[in-house]
Amino acid sequence: MPLNIIVCVKQTPATANIQIDSHTGLLKSDGVNWGINPFDEYAIEEGIRLKERIPGSWCGALTLGLPRSEEVLREAIARGCDEAFHICGQEFDGSDTFATSYALHKGIQKLIQTKGKIDLILCGKQTNDGDAGQVGPGIAAWLDWPSVSYVKKIEEVNEKQVKIHRMMEDGSDILEVSLPAVLSVVKEINEPRLPSLKGKMASKKAVISKWNAEELGCDRSKVGLQGSPTVVAKRFLPPSRPQGTRLDGATIEDKAKKLVEKLKEHKLI
Ligand SMILES: Cc1cc2nc3c(=O)[nH]c(=O)nc-3n(C[C@H](O)[C@H](O)[C@H](O)COP(=O)(O)OP(=O)(O)OC[C@H]3O[C@@H](n4cnc5c(N)ncnc54)[C@H](O)[C@@H]3O)c2cc1C
Repeated sequence: MPLNIIVCVKQTPATANIQIDSHTGLLKSDGVNWGINPFDEYAIEEGIRLKERIPGSWCGALTLGLPRSEEVLREAIARGCDEAFHICGQEFDGSDTFATSYALHKGIQKLIQTKGKIDLILCGKQTNDGDAGQVGPGIAAWLDWPSVSYVKKIEEVNEKQVKIHRMMEDGSDILEVSLPAVLSVVKEINEPRLPSLKGKMASKKAVISKWNAEELGCDRSKVGLQGSPTVVAKRFLPPSRPQGTRLDGATIEDKAKKLVEKLKEHKLI
């Protein structure tokens, strides 16, 4: 039976070199290039592969973000997603992971109304800016659906359940999870494809559905800053590490002797 799949994608800085304004404590967004959160590229790829594996299936992309986040939805369509949905509005500003997952689950509920059902939600393991890894499980909690993180393989799927491999520190778990469910995927799951020319053309023409809090029937006390139980008290870069001491010596034995002396001096041995 065909599946309806939603991939959650977030627009994040396309750089590891994120600057923080020392006065405001906020991330500096001037001159930052934005892109799809790297882990979400794997979630998109998996959604498209499942759609290709099961004829008649549908895969949509969903984001909550500023107007510029539309770019990542168009990129998802260019890679093969069928449709895209944008939750957007000033009322969502300041949302933490609790408020973000609340708003996204309201979007999913709206899609369940229009599509009849959603079988699977795919998320990335975490983002490269917030890094919380909470939004996927948070959406599942709001929907009261099962959730599995660190998914590295989807072995089998039918209309009732999905058989997956979950990455663990000491190996893998193989789990059978009833649908509908939320899965957060790791990079080991696949090799994301690049957008095709046909996909790029489709993405330019695509009409992206936009929803604000009112259209989603959100409880205003659960969105934005007022709906966020966590507060960023301070943001700062970790202090740079002091330079190490270089122990010179003519031979390896000399160097080892000096190292032992240093360790004794610091009462470490
Ligand atoms: C008090 C507070 C205020 C904040 N204010 C702002 C703000 O004003 N503006 C701002 O941009 N951020 C703000 N943030 C950060 C924001 O809360 C997080 O970016 C957001 O909640 C997602 O958390 P994360 O990035 O750690 O996602 P993770 O939990 O690491 O994400 C896991 C996966 O969930 C999905 N996902 C995560 N976020 C989204 C999304 N928005 N849309 C679709 N899918 C998603 C993706 O698949 C992602 O791979 C604030 C945080 C706090 C605590």
